[in-house]
Amino acid sequence: MECIVCGNWFSSTDKTKKLCMTCERVLQHPSIGIAPERLLELAQAEKDGRLVVLPCKIMDTIFMAVGRYGITGFEEDRCDGFFINREGVLQIKAQCYSGNHATYGLPGETVFLTREEAEAELKEKGEEK
Ligand SMILES: [Zn+2]
Repeated sequence: MECIVCGNWFSSTDKTKKLCMTCERVLQHPSIGIAPERLLELAQAEKDGRLVVLPCKIMDTIFMAVGRYGITGFEEDRCDGFFINREGVLQIKAQCYSGNHATYGLPGETVFLTREEAEAELKEKGEEK
């Protein structure tokens, strides 16, 4: 059968076994610091296309694009939530958004996690014109 973690094939008489010997040994190593059951759950979610790593936490500082016809700046805000559309594109929701685009921003396009990244984007967009 196929190992849920590495994808390699292994043989076992136990039909409920999901890991190859190597992965089983690695996951049970004390230095991992996560319960093997939890890692298995994450591996299964990844395999099913259900695993999402969020770019930040709720209430983290974010920088949202503002401007009526194009991005003219970024304002500091707080992450208030997330949205994932049917294509799997993740958006970050701003808490106090007062700009003209949307309450939700696309990471790396209309919302950034640092002022430096936001300013670099603004500079890059300005140079394209
Ligand atoms: Zn494996």
